[in-house]
Amino acid sequence: MEHHFDIIVIGGGTAGVVAAIQAARAGGKTLLVEKNAIPGGTMTAAGIAFPGLFYAWKKQVIAGIGWELVSEAAAESGMPLPEFEKQNGMENHPAYQVRLNPLVYALCCEEKMSAAGVHILYHAMPAEITPFAGGAAVKLCTREGLAEFYAKRIIDCTGDASAVALAGFEVEHPFPCQPGTFNCRLSGYDPDALDWEALSAAADKAVAAGELCYTDLSWNNRTLTAQFIRSYGDNSNHIFPESSPHSAAGRSALEQSAHRSLLRAYRFLKRQPGMEHLRMELAAFECGVRESAVIKGEYTITGEDYVSGRKFPDALCNAFYPIDLHGEEGVEPLKLNEGSVPQVPLRALIPQKSDFLLAAGRCISSDRTANSALRVQATCMATAQAAAAAAVVSCQLNVPLSQTPAEKVREMLKQHGAILPDGI
Ligand SMILES: Cc1cc2nc3c(=O)[nH]c(=O)nc-3n(C[C@H](O)[C@H](O)[C@H](O)COP(=O)(O)OP(=O)(O)OC[C@H]3O[C@@H](n4cnc5c(N)ncnc54)[C@H](O)[C@@H]3O)c2cc1C
Repeated sequence: MEHHFDIIVIGGGTAGVVAAIQAARAGGKTLLVEKNAIPGGTMTAAGIAFPGLFYAWKKQVIAGIGWELVSEAAAESGMPLPEFEKQNGMENHPAYQVRLNPLVYALCCEEKMSAAGVHILYHAMPAEITPFAGGAAVKLCTREGLAEFYAKRIIDCTGDASAVALAGFEVEHPFPCQPGTFNCRLSGYDPDALDWEALSAAADKAVAAGELCYTDLSWNNRTLTAQFIRSYGDNSNHIFPESSPHSAAGRSALEQSAHRSLLRAYRFLKRQPGMEHLRMELAAFECGVRESAVIKGEYTITGEDYVSGRKFPDALCNAFYPIDLHGEEGVEPLKLNEGSVPQVPLRALIPQKSDFLLAAGRCISSDRTANSALRVQATCMATAQAAAAAAVVSCQLNVPLSQTPAEKVREMLKQHGAILPDGI
């Protein structure tokens, strides 16, 4: 395998796939490094395959490579697109997320990356990142041991800002943080044939006996809701981290909590009348993490910036989703100001004092309020395309990231089908 690249993208998830394709299509020799064996990250490994939101106020605000991947994978697997023309702001926003088949999506992502010329290295993680003039050496932990790779620019798409932290730049790990969710797929029962009153009483008893937590079956911790059972397990529990899930230890503890939660749910449900034939199958092999880390960027997007749709001179892409902070009581999505479309500036993708490394996806520089909305998939894809365009432009002009002219990055984004923010 070759070891010298223009761009190394670390993390081949929601954002990483898009970043790698953009970098390669723009002529950068690109390596994608992914710890799992399949691309897509949260969308595939955690089974959360309903990207939102590409439209705002009935108008498309995010397109480009993310939209290309999503719309083509939806068509390929016969999943209809939402009726975007009916989308009225934030009303019933989940209905305007695109339902995907996660496996088909992953396979299409890999095909597109290969077609763009991206070199893909699965089963690898960075162990060390050492800057040198004009780039950095990245020591990867591979199956054969440590191996050194070199790049002019690095894009951290790990979701956890792991590469940014390894390179020595500041990263914040909010804790307590939002709960995760561990997806599964249930079958073998009819929710409409269940005695819900009896089920609720049985759940109260099981919780009192310490055999069940309400959040094993829903997003709220006060009572049994129909959420988990009616959705057949899909995106319906809350797994609260015991420590920040950015580290190996924190993530291991979270995964084990998720496994215990699912086993409690399974044992409880299987003994309820009408659920004797319950089957539980694998829908995800990782617990989905909503919040773990954000970089400390040249600019930090605030909740106020987000809700008001603040305009930035170095804006590269749009974002759109309600404020969506999950907690003990579930989630109460908070609407944006009427007509506003939040923007993401280049400075929120660049760690302070970084010349060669930037980040995309859910770990971009933002406060907790803004991040709870910026973390959604369409926005992660838009930030990834923007970060990759910025990386390539800064290489081409041979300038540090912080001196990369936003208008040149926007030119490249436009050439590659992205929608640019209004008013710049
Ligand atoms: C339960 C849940 C529900 C959600 N619901 C929605 C929703 O309805 N709609 C929506 O749009 N969004 C939703 N989101 C948000 C969204 O899915 C994520 O925030 C987004 O997918 C994160 O994208 P990312 O690229 O930053 O990270 P990820 O998609 O997680 O990708 C990170 C990738 O990096 C890899 N990686 C990590 N560390 C390393 C390393 N050190 N070396 C190599 N590879 C590494 C991982 O394996 C992974 O492939 C939800 C999230 C969760 C958890």
